[in-house]
Amino acid sequence: MGERMEKKTGWEANVRAVTPYTPGEQPKGQDIIKLNTNECPYPPSPKVGRVLEGFDAGTLRLYPDPAAQELVDALAAYHHVDQEQVFVGVGSDDVLALAFLTFFNGTKPVLFPDVTYSFYAVWANLYRIPYFCPALDDNFHLNQKDYMAENGGIIFPNPNAPTGILEDLDTVEAIVAANPDSVVIVDEAYVDFGGVSALSLVETYDNLLVVQTFSKSRAMAGMRIGYAIGSKKLIACLSAVKFSFNSYTMSRLAIACGKACVEDDVYFRETVGRIVGTRERMKRELAQLGFTFPDSKANFIFAKHAHVEAGRIFGDLRSAGIYVRYFCGPRVDKYLRITVGTEEQADRLLAFLREYLG
Ligand code: PMP
Repeated sequence: MGERMEKKTGWEANVRAVTPYTPGEQPKGQDIIKLNTNECPYPPSPKVGRVLEGFDAGTLRLYPDPAAQELVDALAAYHHVDQEQVFVGVGSDDVLALAFLTFFNGTKPVLFPDVTYSFYAVWANLYRIPYFCPALDDNFHLNQKDYMAENGGIIFPNPNAPTGILEDLDTVEAIVAANPDSVVIVDEAYVDFGGVSALSLVETYDNLLVVQTFSKSRAMAGMRIGYAIGSKKLIACLSAVKFSFNSYTMSRLAIACGKACVEDDVYFRETVGRIVGTRERMKRELAQLGFTFPDSKANFIFAKHAHVEAGRIFGDLRSAGIYVRYFCGPRVDKYLRITVGTEEQADRLLAFLREYLG
């Protein structure tokens, strides 16, 4: 703290001061049950494996297609939109960071909830965008009236993170419709696990940008692919900023693997179905153990125990080789965010908790 208050001199006075986002831990050990970063517990589609096996390393001497057209076309076909309505990036973090830079460029505050993905405040601070965080209600739901105030843009995840709560499409539409002079970004990183996408609204509202990722439901966090879908105008603005920043964001490998992944819808649905099944079982068993949680529609459960502090359970789980996420800070520090894993990982987590709490 003392260090941050210290006045900088010389070249240090000109350094951009930032407080970075802290990603979840990526442990090195083998026998760890990793339920801390909302990754998919299953491998990606076997079709992705086949692309990797057949990949010609010789092609790596050439730059990739700056428009990542094959991947854009596959996504456009999948979502039944025009290819000019699709933008791809290096994970949805890359897409979101560029969207902040592109669309949140005024003097009025950008709005996002007080309990949400903590990267939003980091980008706002990085780009010096003013922002305001309306409080979610006591049940962690958005109050749509909070988003009817003057603003320089709006962003929220749906389902929200880390709560897992889904807002219905009417609420999303009311917010988008009430803000024709702002870009509204709906971050749908977790929508495939039971959410209703706002993609159906994109044809009606040219100020709506829907962002999705390959990192969760498509099991490709390690490949880094995210995308946005919106009106042609919005996508053209986003592309102009991207091409002012880095032309070649998507590697040849990411483009090829991403395309194969989107084209295997059967595998995608099967994997998502298994995760949703395990989530519902985990909810039942966690409730029996004295946990309460919002009704998650994501691939994680935001749970608090009636008697035992979250920070303590987090530490003891970690010592037992079971990693979950614990956030310090107001409103969230009584909760653990537990990623839904395989059935076997759920067995081990629940067995530990049964003994620990029993
Ligand atoms: N949005 C939300 C709400 C998230 O939780 C995450 C994952 N940390 C992301 C976006 C970014 O995911 P990725 O960059 O892997 O697509």
